[in-house]
Amino acid sequence: MRYVSTRGQAPALSFEEVVLTGLANDGGLYVPETLPHFSAEALADMAGLSYAEIAFRVMKPFVNGEIDDDTFRGLVTDAYATFNHDAVLPLKQLDANHFLLEQFHGPTLAFKDVALQLLGRLLDHFLKKRNERAVIMGATSGDTGSAAIEGCRHCDNLDIFILHPHNRVSEVQRRQMTTVLANNVFNVAIEGNFDDAQAMVKQSFANQDFLNGSRLVAVNSINWARIMAQIVYYVAAGVALGAPHREVSFSVPSANFGNVFAGYMAYKMGLPVKQFIIATNANDILHRTLTANDFSKRELAATLAPSMDIVVSSNFERLLFDAYERDGHAVAALLERFQIEPTALAEAPLATLREKFSSFSVDDATILEVIREAHHRTGEILDPHTATGYRAAERARADQSTPMVTLATAHPAKFAEAVVKAGFQGVPLPTHMDDLLEREERYSVLPATLEAVQQFVVDNRR
Ligand SMILES: *Cc1c(COP(=O)(O)O)cnc(C)c1O
Repeated sequence: MRYVSTRGQAPALSFEEVVLTGLANDGGLYVPETLPHFSAEALADMAGLSYAEIAFRVMKPFVNGEIDDDTFRGLVTDAYATFNHDAVLPLKQLDANHFLLEQFHGPTLAFKDVALQLLGRLLDHFLKKRNERAVIMGATSGDTGSAAIEGCRHCDNLDIFILHPHNRVSEVQRRQMTTVLANNVFNVAIEGNFDDAQAMVKQSFANQDFLNGSRLVAVNSINWARIMAQIVYYVAAGVALGAPHREVSFSVPSANFGNVFAGYMAYKMGLPVKQFIIATNANDILHRTLTANDFSKRELAATLAPSMDIVVSSNFERLLFDAYERDGHAVAALLERFQIEPTALAEAPLATLREKFSSFSVDDATILEVIREAHHRTGEILDPHTATGYRAAERARADQSTPMVTLATAHPAKFAEAVVKAGFQGVPLPTHMDDLLEREERYSVLPATLEAVQQFVVDNRR
């Protein structure tokens, strides 16, 4: 299996190359040239297997023999052994036909652990094999940095530098990063805001001369391996609820579109899915595009569901590539126009998208109302991201007889502010984390200049 760019101009890559590469050099994102297909029998055979075994079977075709089966099974098993629940991602029944898929039992209590626990191990495997080392740089406004750090803390051949804006990250989020005392983990508090931190990371990727030939690796959601790892839980949940004999629907709190796109991949690979519901907060580009064909940027809104605060959904490009019948030129033209001015999708691809996808947008006041309402009805305290999915599942659902799975993307203790605003006393951290506020922290404060940050990386990488 080879991987090709959504803009049609970059060279096709192997699995190993695609794991080590972020953006394609034509500005596009890598996708598999052809998708593996699971027969009804292959799906039925997965019923009752462990999450790690389902993960091995679903991902094996993408790895394409570039890692031997025993080694790959070992990486997968280790990745999901870090989760604090025997089912890894348990399904919880809310009412007659509505389920929550709890994605928050990993080390940082949010769904990004599912992909990053595996990605760190894959990167380390390939780097060791090539006898190379690499540097990861990333900027975080609080949430994703910790998942990347937890995914890489045991990697011998990787050093990870995560920049966060000094004094502008909540204490729990900062401590989830800074209490990881591994000697390949470097937390940098920038005396500036998130945009400053992100700009320095972007500039470092654009010009890597300061590293003197070392490789800089991106672990953001444009990395194909993250999508690949996320396909697994759609298959696992579908099979648990009766696939291949029964259809299932999913409601997905969405931002960069990586999570729900992985679901779409599972569907294209043979999982019977009735409907995908894209839930957004007030940053509703996906909802506007689907319902009003308004594919345009709007100013960023800071919401109670901050991990969904985006202006552009980077992985939407992967779906567009499919909807435009894999015409890289058409996708490139559309996205170039989108960068400059409000635009719209062509009729045919939009109609294709609307066959499987619905959408719903939820504002902050409604998020609070949903947290209260869901608790009243089900006894569950939802986190604010999950609350958008819960409401979208109710309002945009096509039929009641198909089981609906809402993806619970974060643990409510991680977003206590919204939970308290909704009128609750807060939610305790899970017991394995209850000493987080007492643990030793380590981080460096640096001025917001590119020179200072790059010098720090050069001085500290191993
Ligand atoms: C990242 C994130 C999302 C959005 O996922 P995308 O793949 O970007 O669509 C939703 N909820 C939480 C808690 C997240 O961390």
